[in-house]
Amino acid sequence: MKDTAVLKNFLSDSRKIVITTHANPDADALGSSLGLFHFLKSLGHDVQVIVPNSYPDFLEWMAGNGTVMIYEDNQTKSDELLDEADLLFCLDFSGFNRIKRMKEKAENIEAKIGLIDHHLNPEIKPDFNFWNDTAAATAELVYDLILDYSDAKAIDVDIAECLYAGIMTDTGSFRHPSTSSKIHRTVADLIDLGADVNKVSRLIYDTNSLDRLRFLGHALAEKLRVDEKARVAYFVIDENDFKNFRLKQGDTEGLVNYALSIKGIVVAAIIIHKENEIKLSFRSIGDFAVNKFAEEYFGGGGHKNASGGTSDLTLSETEEKFKSLIDQNILKTKPE
Ligand code: 5GP
Ligand code: MN
Repeated sequence: MKDTAVLKNFLSDSRKIVITTHANPDADALGSSLGLFHFLKSLGHDVQVIVPNSYPDFLEWMAGNGTVMIYEDNQTKSDELLDEADLLFCLDFSGFNRIKRMKEKAENIEAKIGLIDHHLNPEIKPDFNFWNDTAAATAELVYDLILDYSDAKAIDVDIAECLYAGIMTDTGSFRHPSTSSKIHRTVADLIDLGADVNKVSRLIYDTNSLDRLRFLGHALAEKLRVDEKARVAYFVIDENDFKNFRLKQGDTEGLVNYALSIKGIVVAAIIIHKENEIKLSFRSIGDFAVNKFAEEYFGGGGHKNASGGTSDLTLSETEEKFKSLIDQNILKTKPE
C-alpha cells in the first residue's frame, strides 16, 4: 500500500505529527522513526517522536536522539502531545498491543493514523497506509515514501544513516532471506547520499561492554540447551544473569542467533525473565513459521523466521511449555 497522494494532500497544511514505534525499540524502529522525523520536519511540520519505553545506548548516536520522548518517563506531556496531534504515525508495528502503556491512548486517538510497517497481518486500520510485508525493514518503506513524496535530495546524511541502520540490522547485516537486490540498490543510494556504513556498523555492533562479552561466554557455556533430534536450540536467561553480569537493555539482543548458527538446528529461541516479565524470541531457518507458533502459544507474532511473544507462567513452566510444544510442532515439518 502506498497512500502518498492522499498523505501529501493532508500535509499541504502545517500539521502536528507524533511518530511512535514498538516497545523495546530496535535500530529499525528508531532509525525509521527518526528518518521520517527529519523528513517531516524539513517539510515544516511540528513533529515529535514518542517511544513507549527506553532503548539500548548503542542506538543513542542517531541524529535527533536527544529529542525523542520516552512515554513511560513523560506520560503527562506525551498524552498532551497525542491529544493535540493531527496525525499519529505508527512505525514498525501493526497492533497496538506492541506499544505497552500507550495502547489505550493510541486506540482512542482523534488524530489520523499513518501506518508504515512490514509485519504480517496488520491490525491497525490506518488513514494513510504504507504497509508492505515484502519490505526488509520499515526503514526501506520510509526511504520509498520519501522518494515517492519528494526525491532523493530530501535525504540528507542524517536521514541516510538512520535508514541504513534500520536496514542493516533488520536484514541481519544483509544475510536474511529478505535481502533482495532492491534493498542493495536502496543501500547503494543511501551510501551515495552520505551514509558512512563503517561508522554505523561500528556504533551498533562494536560497542560491547566487557560485562556483555563475559555474559555471552557464560550463556554459551552454561545456558544453551540443544535438542539435536528435534533440531532446536535455546537459551534460558534468568534474573540472576542480569544481576551477575550487570546486563543492560539490549545486552541479550542477537544472542538467539548463536543458537540458530549450530549446524542442523532449524529453530532457536531465547526465554528471558526480567523485571517480572517473561519474553520469548524465536528464530527459524526454512519452513517452520515461528510467527504462527508465537501467535498460537505465546500471544505474540512477527515474521515467518523471526518472532516473539510473552508468557505469564514461571520461567521453568515456560521452558517446559516451549519444549513440549516445539517438539510436537517441529516434527510436523520436513528436515531442511
Ligand atoms: P525480537 O526477537 O528481535 O524481539 O523480535 C523479532 C520479531 O518478532 C520482531 O520484529 C517483532 O516483529 C516480533 N515480536 C517480538 N515480540 C513480539 C510480541 O510480543 N508480539 C508480537 N506481535 N510480535 C513480536
Ligand atoms: Mn523492522
